[in-house]
Amino acid sequence: MTNDIRRPTRAEIDLGNLEHNFKSIRSFVGTDAKFLAVVKANAYGHGAVECSRVLEREGADYLGVAIPEEGLELRAAGISLPILCLGGVWPGQEESLLVNRIIPVLFDRDSALRLNHAAGRLGLTATAHVKIDTGMGRLGVPCGESAEFARFLRGLPHLRIDGLMSHFAAADDPNESDFTHEQIARFQDALHVFSACGHDISIFDLANSPGAVCYPESRKAMVRIGGILYGLGGDVLPQSVPQPEIRPVMSVVSDISLLKWVPPDTSIGYSRTFRASRESLIASIPIGYNDGVPRALSNCGQVVIRGKRAPIVGRVSMDWITVDVTEIEGVSVRDNVYLIGPERSPGISAVEIAAKVGTISYEVTCGIGSRVPRIFLMRSPRE
Ligand SMILES: *Cc1c(COP(=O)(O)O)cnc(C)c1O
Repeated sequence: MTNDIRRPTRAEIDLGNLEHNFKSIRSFVGTDAKFLAVVKANAYGHGAVECSRVLEREGADYLGVAIPEEGLELRAAGISLPILCLGGVWPGQEESLLVNRIIPVLFDRDSALRLNHAAGRLGLTATAHVKIDTGMGRLGVPCGESAEFARFLRGLPHLRIDGLMSHFAAADDPNESDFTHEQIARFQDALHVFSACGHDISIFDLANSPGAVCYPESRKAMVRIGGILYGLGGDVLPQSVPQPEIRPVMSVVSDISLLKWVPPDTSIGYSRTFRASRESLIASIPIGYNDGVPRALSNCGQVVIRGKRAPIVGRVSMDWITVDVTEIEGVSVRDNVYLIGPERSPGISAVEIAAKVGTISYEVTCGIGSRVPRIFLMRSPRE
């Protein structure tokens, strides 16, 4: 077996649509704010290296990763944009971060001390950003302790703090707009505190996708955009606000391995949860929950074959699904099967799948398994 002969299951990544989304969002939010493109979690499942190359070429200012390892992967691939590591730095990772010019976000004294120490050892000054908790309640220095933390950092000679950030808890929810405005105000206060303490903060940012779209006043010196770059977030942005035109970037495609007619009352799959009510044509498709098809789609998901929807019948298993294709005229073995996509009607979106299984579209694309090869398309197949 060679590497290029494989199971037909794949995720097609339309880099043309990624480029389109970047340009569309950039013109929507304006060019006053720098643009940090979030490529954590393998670019929400889309392939971090390839997506980062496109974003670098198109003029993103920063890339954002969740953990240092993700930044190292980008550096190893030759990406040279500034990389911000949103999730901090674990003990022992400081030197490789510094050597690879990955900027950590600090939110506790221990990591600041360790980073300062590592920078001293290497004979350089470490640039870092500081995260303030203005209401997310997760990472970040509690905003009431900004002044203390700012003073503490001034005592660390090998650190230079040039960025301040915070993260919205509910910018996607219009009912929480008072809280979101409160977060913006608290962030402004923290910014004053840091400046008054002598830190020269040139980058300050708190807007994620819903923040940047719904709260223009939150765009500040930089925006940090993830989901909408990948055409996600139809479920994360309120429908009531103007928004940039975006296109899906990922399709998940397989094909039909086996077709068989079964008589009425035949049960299909584990636990016999489906029984054919009539003579039915059943297709076996080589993709399962290990590939990221949620098992919750058992007996309720759909796929697209020959431009028509067909229902997933029986349980989604680890490596296979079964689909009732009785109604698909001319269906044959090797026909393409879309789990996500195609872009044109009656395509299935990650948002639709997410709504069916009770999650958000981000989790759907992040969940596409590592054994599903990503195939990168430079130009949209649409005419
Ligand atoms: C993931 C993340 C973002 C991006 O959020 P989207 O909703 O995908 O735009 C921004 N900032 C931080 C700190 C994040 O962790």
